[in-house]
Amino acid sequence: MTASAIGLLPEQTNTPVVVFGGTFDPVHFGHLQAAKALRGALNAERVVWLPAGEPPHRPPPAASAPHRLAMLQLALADEPQSVIDTRELDRSGPSYTVLSLGELKAEYLDQPLCFALGLDAALGLPQWYRWQEVLALVGIAVMHRPGWSLPEPLPPWWLGAQLDSHDPLPESGGWIRVVEIPPVDVAAADIRTDLANNRSIETKVPAVVAAYIKEHELYGENTRV
Ligand code: ATP
Repeated sequence: MTASAIGLLPEQTNTPVVVFGGTFDPVHFGHLQAAKALRGALNAERVVWLPAGEPPHRPPPAASAPHRLAMLQLALADEPQSVIDTRELDRSGPSYTVLSLGELKAEYLDQPLCFALGLDAALGLPQWYRWQEVLALVGIAVMHRPGWSLPEPLPPWWLGAQLDSHDPLPESGGWIRVVEIPPVDVAAADIRTDLANNRSIETKVPAVVAAYIKEHELYGENTRV
């Protein structure tokens, strides 16, 4: 009998939830393996995938929202711990992360929310709309990404929120933790370039995603990379 079953400890309900935002244009093994490693490292219950409709901080995606969503659904079909949240695709106007995280926080009241950001994206956080509120709402799990290194010294906004790897995850937001994950050197921009140049992408995306791209003739010669 476990300690919680005999009443010595409360049942642990506050397992973290990872929120993984992105354009997923297309989803690739870098996203999929990072999410899996992050879920394991944080002992998280699930990963909420949050595809952006109109990302405010970068050029519009090359593939339409329905195509990007369909590829995500195919890639995650065998992942029971993953759910896709379409609120940013359903909302008109720019996909402001602060709005989505505010809503998610109200829905996952008892669980710490960890917003996953690759190191490239994390370093750009101060350019985001109401970025201080983003950081105050959730914890940020930063994933290493090949080609990017942590700046020395860390910017003051980051340093003030930084948690060590052995610190417990606070229930509230306002923290940043760098999580060691196996590096996967794949980027969606490179995949779009490969496709525009008729190069194989089979090592970079699941076979179902490659087949979907081929069937719908996505990312052809005139694709914006
Ligand atoms: P693009 O090349 O079009 O900029 P991307 O490959 O960076 O796309 P996004 O959908 O923009 O993909 O990324 C969503 C999130 O996943 C971001 O936080 C990004 O930093 C992270 N990410 C993407 N690829 C990797 C990777 N290979 N390793 C770790 N994190 C990644």
